[in-house]
Amino acid sequence: MFENTIFGKLDQKLQHAIDDAGYRKPTPIQEQAIPYLLDGRDLIGCAQTGTGKTAAFMLPILNRLIKVRRPRHIGHPRALVLSPTRELAAQTAENIKAFSKYAQLPFACVFGGVSQFGQVKDIKKGAETIVACPGRLIDLMTQGIIYLDQVECFVLDEADRMLDMGFLPDIKRIISKLPKNRQSLFFSATMSPPILKLAGELVTDPAQVTISPETPTVERINQKVMFVEKASKDSLLIHLLKTHPEWTRVIVFTKMRHGADRVTKKLSRENISCAAIHSDKTQGQRTRALDGFRKGTVRVLVATDIASRGIDVPDVSCVVNMELPLETESYVHRIGRTARAGESGAAISFVTGAERGQLKAVERFIKKTIPVDRDHPFHSEESDRKNGKQGDGLPQAPWVHPANRNKANKKRNGHVGFQGRRQPDFGNRKGKQ
Ligand code: AMP
Repeated sequence: MFENTIFGKLDQKLQHAIDDAGYRKPTPIQEQAIPYLLDGRDLIGCAQTGTGKTAAFMLPILNRLIKVRRPRHIGHPRALVLSPTRELAAQTAENIKAFSKYAQLPFACVFGGVSQFGQVKDIKKGAETIVACPGRLIDLMTQGIIYLDQVECFVLDEADRMLDMGFLPDIKRIISKLPKNRQSLFFSATMSPPILKLAGELVTDPAQVTISPETPTVERINQKVMFVEKASKDSLLIHLLKTHPEWTRVIVFTKMRHGADRVTKKLSRENISCAAIHSDKTQGQRTRALDGFRKGTVRVLVATDIASRGIDVPDVSCVVNMELPLETESYVHRIGRTARAGESGAAISFVTGAERGQLKAVERFIKKTIPVDRDHPFHSEESDRKNGKQGDGLPQAPWVHPANRNKANKKRNGHVGFQGRRQPDFGNRKGKQ
């Protein structure tokens, strides 16, 4: 069914499942990585979530589990995938479930924050693949429930995130329990010296695949900056959500957990369906929020950075940054949520005068000046001035009451005819640049 692509080299059962998942052709990382992995090579992949990397590593692993049958030993998985966050682990497990639907390949997904009961049950049923976050995995190893001595394929996913989250000692401990003779796959969105050092300890004679979607992804996204006073940010968000009913799935990023809770409260008061996900939420709350967002019952997901990687929801119409992240790289990860697997999206960042340093840092990082949108009732001249951007973007109407500014700007811009710089159909730009 996929004769002319690398998918055609996979077992028929996997090909059927890929077809059911709606994949028509491999993504670049799949095209490049799958041949090496089918050959049993180790791999270093420089790629971020959103490129199709999960299928790139999971399909060859599942293919091996189908082709090379071994008697099942309870608690001794043949494949282990380490993920930094519960969300990413759960998503990888969803992928395994979808790909193995015709091939009886039991798996377990283990992470903390929930009872281990269901996870242990899946392991006892003979899970051959385990997707795990480091903490709970070590916990289950200590309890004698999981042994790593029969792992044939090991994947370290989002290694950079793992290091950021302080998992290095856990990872080293886990690696020390793996058999020497194994296939190792190492994925990271960035490759700094400590990450390369860790990779060097893990892989042998690796093939290397680099997919750099950061710039292309960011280029597909229609980015804007809105200058606003801190105290007006919530009102601006509510204004945008009310004037853009076509944004059916919006992710709002806040820097702090309490900020996420405050925004959710305010939106709820305005009858805008929303849910927050951050590290103070229980796993049940996070899962319910993400499920609701996927199904479309939750329109706005309010998240902190911890949740920004790994959220994989197609058709996110817009990402709003209530504050710019302190880590510039997070900006790319945040806004990348709106442009998954080839779709285009929109991203708006609310910026105050005090945040000018962060805006400059982000623009340096993405090597692009983000256009300013002053066409909203909460525009702050002061923030605009402090950011030194007054020469950019749309011309500003002379001072008018904030409530009338939208109208005044429209009128003025209509006269001077800045069509080339206006983007009036911001909410509906699927497929456009
Ligand atoms: P990932 O980078 O693994 O998180 O994948 C990002 C998204 O792309 C997920 O929704 C996948 O289901 C989707 N995806 C992965 N591979 C393909 C493909 N070959 N064709 C279409 N969509 C894909």
